[in-house]
Amino acid sequence: MIVIEDVHKHFGGFRAVDGATLTIQDQSITGLIGPNGAGKTTLFNVIAGVLKPTSGRITMAGEDITGLPPHELFHKGLLRTFQIAHEFGSMTCRENLMMVPGGQSGERLWDTWFGRKRIADEERALKAKADEVLEFLTISHISNLRAGEISGGQKKLLELGRTMMVDAKIVFLDEVGAGVNRTLLYTIADAIKRLNEERGYTFVVIEHDMDFIEKICDPVICMAEGKVLAEGTLAEIKANEQVIEAYLGT
Ligand code: ADP
Repeated sequence: MIVIEDVHKHFGGFRAVDGATLTIQDQSITGLIGPNGAGKTTLFNVIAGVLKPTSGRITMAGEDITGLPPHELFHKGLLRTFQIAHEFGSMTCRENLMMVPGGQSGERLWDTWFGRKRIADEERALKAKADEVLEFLTISHISNLRAGEISGGQKKLLELGRTMMVDAKIVFLDEVGAGVNRTLLYTIADAIKRLNEERGYTFVVIEHDMDFIEKICDPVICMAEGKVLAEGTLAEIKANEQVIEAYLGT
């Protein structure tokens, strides 16, 4: 469980996050919605260690994680997905997945200097894991395609795949649906739901597509002007007058 207490993030005099308080329950798929400029992405980046909060406190299972850098949070199983960087576009989808664990363990990489057999064993294990991840995400058919050539939705699935390579526990996903066709959007929703139900992942998802939110998110948290306005099921949120006003005001 992650508890976010009175978190502020100011840019100069501007209060992008202005006293946000919320709880993310273990094994939930929490949807974060709100009009543009509400502070959702900034709050995400503060929780995931990309930005340091101006003030406030964040705890994970009771442990203070306020201001920890992303790599430390990564080792605790908390990570934010990022778009696949341009320079990885020429590698295949499978290779992109195989890169992930190698990048996190200096010792293991060091170990591999000492034996070709170990290198071969590690590579085989990584490849098997990458293939298992691709199959789980129903994208085995793109294993050998270059990541730069696949569609936006497939890239989102590959980003999700990277979290599976490191057995993440809590995953922050930003704008899954932007520019993704409906069929793939539902494939992504289904993968998130299965990761949640079968593997105990917790998700926090920023999304504008209400069908997507309705399909998988409970609870839904609505932010506006840097604060949490309301929390509940999507039906409750949609009926909330403050929420309606916040959306109409934009
Ligand atoms: P949302 O994700 O809800 O659309 P953001 O968190 O991206 O909102 O942005 C909230 C507000 O903070 C916006 O008005 C945005 O312009 C501002 N903002 C975000 N990042 C910065 C920054 N690095 N410097 C200055 N202002 C920023």
